[in-house]
Amino acid sequence: AKAEGKRRLCFFDTEMQASVTRRLQLEKDIIRGLERGEFVIYLQAQLGEHQGLIGAEALVRWQHPERGVLAPGAFIEAAESAGLMGRIDSGVLRLACEQLAAWSRQPELAGLTLSVNLSAAELYRAGFVEEVQDVLAQTGANPARLKLELTESMLLSDMPIAIARMRALKDRGVRFAVDDFGTGYSSLLYLQQLPLDQLKIDQSFVRALPDDNNSLEIVRTIIALARSLRMEVIAEGVETQAQRQTLLASGCHLYQGYLFARPEPAQVLERMLSPAHGQ
Ligand code: C2E
Ligand code: CA
Ligand code: CA
Ligand code: CA
Repeated sequence: AKAEGKRRLCFFDTEMQASVTRRLQLEKDIIRGLERGEFVIYLQAQLGEHQGLIGAEALVRWQHPERGVLAPGAFIEAAESAGLMGRIDSGVLRLACEQLAAWSRQPELAGLTLSVNLSAAELYRAGFVEEVQDVLAQTGANPARLKLELTESMLLSDMPIAIARMRALKDRGVRFAVDDFGTGYSSLLYLQQLPLDQLKIDQSFVRALPDDNNSLEIVRTIIALARSLRMEVIAEGVETQAQRQTLLASGCHLYQGYLFARPEPAQVLERMLSPAHGQ
């Protein structure tokens, strides 16, 4: 039994070693990918009441030379623990602002907004406000078309700093959304104090519609909350007509989800607006 235990220990060690090696290789790959501009954005459509395009969420993708297009699940954890997420987010912000500037030159696209995700450390990083302002100025993007998505835990980790930084950017016209709303601490106090513009109903609630009564009640509460705080409310992860109908009947008029579009390169999204697409 002792020998067996030892063998198992050795096996475990080898496994652990292999996983450490894989992780280090992944980190090296991410750095190389950053240097070669392999991180790009895919855009997922956001639709309004009459199912017209109002904007999109920018979602990072890694165009890996061997493994193809990778979603964040394949690299975000490694990037975060290696302290590389800030560089990825900066690149995403720049690409999003360049996209907004390009759209602003085309009348039929000029009104679209872009939502950008921030990782936990970003908002609190020294120089964050200045960096956003610089990127806006350098690209010529209209700040009012940019929305930054933050999670509840990010907002709550240091509220006074969060408020100060958000206000500084809001003064320029940038807007803020709470991502994955309903899955965090959801204190009414913080909602009242922060300069927020939009709540994003988390997909876990949307997925359970229309049959799950608890989720329906939570969704209705979030919608009522948004209304009383004069915030927009958008549902993400909408996959079926039944879900859309339920949300519409509950008073939510903005949607994002596979029912309408997957995250795609910008040209695919732009085609949704071309006359040939047909409304
Ligand atoms: P998220 O911000 O909650 O983004 C929504 C995720 O749900 C996206 O996954 C999107 O592709 C997926 N999704 C959208 N509609 C549907 C639907 O109808 N059904 C289902 N099942 N899924 C749907 P994705 O692109 O893999 O991104 C995963 C997460 O990675 C994001 O969740 C966000 O937290 C993070 N992320 C993505 N891009 C960035 C980025 O540029 N910076 C940072 N810091 N995080 C990012
Ligand atoms: Ca998001
Ligand atoms: Ca989300
Ligand atoms: Ca999320």
